[in-house]
Amino acid sequence: MISLSGFGQEPADLRAAMLQAMTSVVDSHHYILGHEVDNFEAAWAAACGTQYAVGVGNGMDALELALRASGVGPGDEVVTTAMSAAATVLAIIRAGATPVFADIDSETGLLSRESVLRCIGPRTKGILPVHLYGQLRDMKEWLALSSEHGLVLVEDCAQAHLAKEGDRVAGSFGSASAFSFYPTKNLGAVGDAGAVVTNNPEIAESVRRARNYGQSRQYAHDDFGVNSRLDELQAALLSVRLRWLTAFTRRRRELASLYREVLKGTNVGLMSLPPDPEGHVFHQFVITTEFRDELRSFLHSRQIPTLIHYPTPLHHQPPFRSFKADPRGLHWAEKHAATCLSLPCHPQLSDSDVITVAEAVAEFSK
Ligand SMILES: *Cc1c(COP(=O)(O)O)cnc(C)c1O
Repeated sequence: MISLSGFGQEPADLRAAMLQAMTSVVDSHHYILGHEVDNFEAAWAAACGTQYAVGVGNGMDALELALRASGVGPGDEVVTTAMSAAATVLAIIRAGATPVFADIDSETGLLSRESVLRCIGPRTKGILPVHLYGQLRDMKEWLALSSEHGLVLVEDCAQAHLAKEGDRVAGSFGSASAFSFYPTKNLGAVGDAGAVVTNNPEIAESVRRARNYGQSRQYAHDDFGVNSRLDELQAALLSVRLRWLTAFTRRRRELASLYREVLKGTNVGLMSLPPDPEGHVFHQFVITTEFRDELRSFLHSRQIPTLIHYPTPLHHQPPFRSFKADPRGLHWAEKHAATCLSLPCHPQLSDSDVITVAEAVAEFSK
């Protein structure tokens, strides 16, 4: 059975290490903001090549707190993509700011620079690119564009754990960057979890206070805050799972190459394969085809599950319809939403699973 998560097929030694970590937290009798969180934060900052990581409750909170700590607030606009999880836009709204939707690049599905330039106005305060599907692109150009316009750059890294451009890792470019450790992400907890990474000590401190009611120390409330702490239990599990992440990431890249190899002979007029830059971590392996819905039904009839990321671009979702968008429209985001299909892609798939899926796609294409 080919599954979408692979949780049932994880290595036995990973499972044993996770159970041991859980037992140790339960027996420690210390469940909130202790050394497991400190240890994971240090390990995650090191993995991202940043000075600081601050664990929070989930990815959406990480985005909100990263934006707030970067100085985004009421009256500000933040330009982002319509091809993302709703959490990206909800976090902007929760920070008190207003999202503005820019279109995507037709090849990568990532935020389009030309479109962002059309969306920048007198109230624009920040740009929020999403490293969709695990790919990191043009970060030097984004940094240059942001500084030229006096904007903050906050990265949504929820799909891009350990993704790289050159030798720099996702999360190390923006003023602050947000990670989700939702279970199905490349690094996932056993429940909800997230983190903000940054090189700025003031931003790190600000997020540290904000996640814990705005306290600088117990009962000293310096800022407005929320309750968005990372649990000791999730932190301990994340530290264990982090030890497998490099191998799992390598495996995702291998599977993507295998898909590419089997699918390279198929009719490209009908279908396009995802780009494959070196640092892509393939959170998803996404193809596009005009016959997406037919292909999806065909694969399902063969017991091959698929997903769509995302079927409706965010500017068409009812609560977000009134927000501003690129005056030229969001043609590519709409086209992508109508044609994209995420094939199974997780580190527990075998070579023969991927060959089965790819051959079914090839067969359909005929
Ligand atoms: C998963 C995800 C989020 C939200 O993370 P949660 O932990 O579920 O709050 C935000 N942005 C993107 C791009 C995501 O994929």
